[in-house]
Amino acid sequence: MEVKCTLCGRIDKITKIHKDYFKIARENASYVCEMCEKRVRYHAVEFNKPRKPM
Ligand SMILES: [Zn+2]
Repeated sequence: MEVKCTLCGRIDKITKIHKDYFKIARENASYVCEMCEKRVRYHAVEFNKPRKPM
């Protein structure tokens, strides 16, 4: 199945072993590629860090 990353527009081919395959196939859920997922996760971690006082 061909899916398009909602963040960078990259086209990926995923198979049934992909963790979100059924979610995307059934619910038409948005797909985020591995790279963007990592980036998003990284930013989420950064965001949750307490800010250093200036
Ligand atoms: Zn992407």
